[in-house]
Amino acid sequence: MNIVNYPDPVLRQRAKPLTEINKEVYLKVEEMMELIYQAQGIGLAAPQVGWSVRLFIIDVDGDLHGEKVFINPVITEEVGELNKEEGCLSFPGIMGKVVRAQRIKAQAYTLKGQKIEIEAEGLAARAWQHEIDHLNGCLFIDKMSPASRLAISHQLKEFERSYKGTRIPV
Ligand SMILES: [Zn+2]
Repeated sequence: MNIVNYPDPVLRQRAKPLTEINKEVYLKVEEMMELIYQAQGIGLAAPQVGWSVRLFIIDVDGDLHGEKVFINPVITEEVGELNKEEGCLSFPGIMGKVVRAQRIKAQAYTLKGQKIEIEAEGLAARAWQHEIDHLNGCLFIDKMSPASRLAISHQLKEFERSYKGTRIPV
């Protein structure tokens, strides 16, 4: 398993709901945990490893009730706005400003199949919104401020130029 980089087409697909939490899911989540740890990332969505299902991992200290793996997640409430820099493991080296809600309420299933409701703010809320976007084929460059987008346009072209279509299927 590898993290796939922009502009891999899997990043533009709408991911499918996960219908069963079986051994295969556990194994893949374990591998994703390893990748996020190695990359020192905050969030990783399944499509970023070529697995087009509605699941992501968010690894931030704080208020996510000790959960890191969220399945079939839905945001139910968004409050406030905050324009801050963020990055993405599928765009190594790229940062840009994105407007996100300041606080969110959301629902998801845990890896144990339990339905949970969470309230998040700060980094956790930003990460949630970023990862939900991944499940809908939306990338942070789509929402970046025009100035940020302009500032990284050369780097994006470089990603596009060097893309070899070598995504490893899972
Ligand atoms: Zn991302």
